[in-house]
Amino acid sequence: MRCLVISDIHANLAAFEAVLQDVARRRISFDVVWCLGDVVGYGPDPNDCIDLLRTLPHVCLAGNHDWAVLGKLAIEAFHENAAFVVQWTREALTAPNLNYLRVRPEKEAQGDFLLVHASPREPIWEYVLDVSVAEENFGFVTTPCALVGHTHVPLVFFKDERTRVVSAALPPPNTPILLRHAFTYIINPGSVGQPRDGDPRAAYAVLDTEALTWTQYRVAYPIAHTQERMRRHGFPERLIERLAIGR
Ligand code: ZN
Repeated sequence: MRCLVISDIHANLAAFEAVLQDVARRRISFDVVWCLGDVVGYGPDPNDCIDLLRTLPHVCLAGNHDWAVLGKLAIEAFHENAAFVVQWTREALTAPNLNYLRVRPEKEAQGDFLLVHASPREPIWEYVLDVSVAEENFGFVTTPCALVGHTHVPLVFFKDERTRVVSAALPPPNTPILLRHAFTYIINPGSVGQPRDGDPRAAYAVLDTEALTWTQYRVAYPIAHTQERMRRHGFPERLIERLAIGR
């Protein structure tokens, strides 16, 4: 099975559409989309992004912004800029789309892959950004591989099950990496709608569950278009600017 793995769309329709167009342009066929949460928040197109996702065969997890919009997480836990858009999104979402977010799971096992938004230990909140946090989280990975989002940074953590050593690697773009049976993995595909690794292009990955390959991709999208829509809704300037620098 081939899975298009995406995360943190963050209501950025231009970025989401660019990903789907890039997949088509590369003639990549996929059976299912695995979306690791935070479909909404930060961006100006929450309904359009949920609607587009729902046209595809997919599994979608709950993210912290999704929960904040639903009132399942205290808005005070968010930076004021993020909180502003959470409030705005709450009012913008249609009833069916609020219901859609309400029934997203916190964790989902799909064969050998555990899907969560944040971390295997704390599926909604914890950031897996370094080897020490990854090391602790491998204890909560019940499958050969966990897929996480939340940090908006594409990264592969791998644990050698013989030596117990945990390492991290940046996935090379456009190049399949082979997932080996001797290792356990925690992999992040990066963010579609708000990358934070210094590369403002939308990030996504393709997982082949039979060949056991993971391929990371980046695609440019019309950032100015999303920024213009954010400005029109009076979103905080810092959120508008960060899209262009990928931080
Ligand atoms: Zn996010």
